[in-house]
Amino acid sequence: MEKIRGILIGRMQPVHNGHIEVIKKTLEEVDEIIIGIGSAQKSHELKDPFTAGERVVMLNHALIENNIDSGSYYIIPMEDINFNAIWVAHVKMMTPPFSVVYSGNSLVKQLFYEEGFEVRNPPLYDRMNLSGTEIRKRMLKDENWQELVPQATIDVIKEINGVERLKNLAIKEISELGD
Ligand code: NAD
Repeated sequence: MEKIRGILIGRMQPVHNGHIEVIKKTLEEVDEIIIGIGSAQKSHELKDPFTAGERVVMLNHALIENNIDSGSYYIIPMEDINFNAIWVAHVKMMTPPFSVVYSGNSLVKQLFYEEGFEVRNPPLYDRMNLSGTEIRKRMLKDENWQELVPQATIDVIKEINGVERLKNLAIKEISELGD
């Protein structure tokens, strides 16, 4: 029987518990999920501190940690392109065929909708706290960010001195304001 494949694309800066919940929920509805690591070309910026490779490791280990069948997902880094109107074609070129798109991002939803895809809006879990913005803010302020992410994200951030990287990026970006 033909498999139903869905896709979820996110920057995942960093991978957090909301991403894992939505992946689990999606896998109740489709046979396989393609997880696109968005803005793959970006790293070492305050809003995008982690490389695509670092985000792949966080996600892969977090899915293992959550006992998600490794045969049910594909993790694919995806670079941005300058042209929104052809982004969907770019995504299709980089991924296995899919028919359902999961996203809470209005631009992503609009672009796929216009290309005729079924777009589903997954439920948001504790969006006040489960967001990359909130986690990066807590890292900068030495607050408890660890409670919002899987152990795998904590392990990668520790391995790469991720909090120190973020703090150094904040100093650099503030100092550039004077240029
Ligand atoms: P994100 O990591 O903020 O979120 C990704 C998805 O995860 C969301 O759509 C949502 O479904 C889910 N999610 C996040 N927090 C959640 C929570 N608390 N509970 C449940 N689910 C939650 O990433 P994003 O910013 O939406 O990523 C979109 C990517 O697509 C970006 O990398 C963007 O650059 C890319 N994009 C590129 C182009 C282009 O290149 N022209 C165009 C459109 C989008």
